[in-house]
Amino acid sequence: MGMFDNGFDAVIIGAGHNGMALAAYLAKSGWSVAVLERRTEEGGGLSTEEVTEPNFLHNLHSNYHSLVGLSPVYDDLQLLDNGVDYALPDVQMGSVFSDGTALTIHTDMRKTYESFARFSKQDADTWMRLWDEVGGYMDLMVRTLMFAPPIRLNDLTRALASWGVEERSEFLTARLRTMSVADFLDKHFENDRIKAMLAFHAAICAYQPHIKGLAVSYPVLLGKISNWHLCRGGSHRLAHALMRVIVKAGGRVFPQVPVEEVVVENGRAVGVRTPDGFVKAHKLVASSVDANQTFEKLLRPEHVPEKTAVAVREIQYQDATLFNVHLAMNGFPRYRAAAFDPDIDRAWIVNVGYESLADFKDEFDRIRKGLLPKTLRLNVAVNSLYDPTDAPEGKATGLIRVFAPFALADGGPEAWGAVAKEFGARCVERWASVCTNMEGGLIRRWATETPHDISQKMINYRFGDWMVGRVHPKNLLEHRPTDELSQYRTPIKGLYMCGASQHPHGYITFAPGYNCLSVIADDFNLEKWWVQI
Ligand SMILES: Cc1cc2nc3c(=O)[nH]c(=O)nc-3n(C[C@H](O)[C@H](O)[C@H](O)COP(=O)(O)OP(=O)(O)OC[C@H]3O[C@@H](n4cnc5c(N)ncnc54)[C@H](O)[C@@H]3O)c2cc1C
Repeated sequence: MGMFDNGFDAVIIGAGHNGMALAAYLAKSGWSVAVLERRTEEGGGLSTEEVTEPNFLHNLHSNYHSLVGLSPVYDDLQLLDNGVDYALPDVQMGSVFSDGTALTIHTDMRKTYESFARFSKQDADTWMRLWDEVGGYMDLMVRTLMFAPPIRLNDLTRALASWGVEERSEFLTARLRTMSVADFLDKHFENDRIKAMLAFHAAICAYQPHIKGLAVSYPVLLGKISNWHLCRGGSHRLAHALMRVIVKAGGRVFPQVPVEEVVVENGRAVGVRTPDGFVKAHKLVASSVDANQTFEKLLRPEHVPEKTAVAVREIQYQDATLFNVHLAMNGFPRYRAAAFDPDIDRAWIVNVGYESLADFKDEFDRIRKGLLPKTLRLNVAVNSLYDPTDAPEGKATGLIRVFAPFALADGGPEAWGAVAKEFGARCVERWASVCTNMEGGLIRRWATETPHDISQKMINYRFGDWMVGRVHPKNLLEHRPTDELSQYRTPIKGLYMCGASQHPHGYITFAPGYNCLSVIADDFNLEKWWVQI
């Protein structure tokens, strides 16, 4: 008997964390479930590989998991009892500046205050008021705005206005919907470096600081600034945990089974076609891959209404992606700026080079033209500081990321192959320039992953876009990925969308998968045994 002969209640396309979480909930609800994955292993953006040397574990994609403790999925699926263990670095982030000074963000906000106060007492005070205020509505906002199908921005601002937000809050106002993160920071803070540190946090969350309208969710984003978790043993362990939960509940995950077509009969998705044969879906098919692939490649054109096809064609992707360098090191980098703030040597994530809001503008303007940065600005991380299991004893892994264009002005995406080595070397040199000990044998070996590499390996990250759709007011909430598809249902009966193309966006949040589950539960009268938000 073949492995697909009986079919499954639900067939899920793609074994990233969203697809697997949805599968796990449905399997625990008693459905038969199959997750089909085109790559050789499950996990999607939860990828950990020994790309430099054996026993050096590098997270190729998601490295920072910022919703641990906030996403209900961790508890519902008991992921921490299934082999996932997180570290919460006490020095979360830092910035090193050209004059040898440094800023640090700690889980202990008093220490963050002290670090900010060395640059501006006024800003440090503002920061603490902001932090306290956001703490008051953080859970509410994350859970109602992220872990529920999207509401309309107009409804949200109307609700805030009738709640009297202008009188009750110093930082949250209806006007944020027209402001950029940079506008917000200029309004409330005075010191360039503090602003750059806070904008850096936005930028690594794919909130480009100068896009108008993104300030609306920025206070909530700031509320997560001390919640960046590191998955011990590599991010891929989260994928294993999800796999275990699915299998325990009777579900199946099939790597190396790419879906080639969603089969539609009489306007209803009835299964999928794969190289291993047809897989029947008794109740539904859920796609965790991007909307373009789903509607332009997996569905035959005759099954896609014209209006849907036009809207999908117009989906926009981020104009900046990431160039990555993974390093195997003989020890830990020591910063020159440690003379100013010794805690910088223990900062998990470090901004090297962004010193003002103008730096971000300059950076993203060049990227939009397809140009490599003239002044190299990096975000770097040393996971081994907080996870000694990711490298042999006494050794360390390192990660450099640079915002970069997908298509180079000179030669397009394929041109990355020719420049990767030289550009990678420039990145390593730049990191070394702010350290005291990088020359002379600290670095054993390094390997690059270019924007083009990302898009080849992860075909759903179109144009290397790790958020699977631009983070822009036109592509958020009720507009993500299109107005029609924003509620996780599609015009094809029995076909749902459950991946990062959906609200709220990419990142390891589980929110698209969880929200799709809520919609499926409503449509199929499933008993909602999980914690209701
Ligand atoms: C360089 C980089 C750095 C990142 N850093 C972070 C970070 O630090 N923190 C963070 O939270 N996020 C980060 N991300 C983003 C994060 O990895 C993604 O947003 C997230 O993994 C999306 O999850 P998903 O489950 O929706 O999709 P994915 O994880 O992409 O899973 C989708 C799966 O579908 C599979 N697939 C595609 N087409 C088919 C098909 N036809 N048939 C079957 N299977 C198919 C893919 O192979 C993939 O396994 C990063 C991404 C990149 C590329």
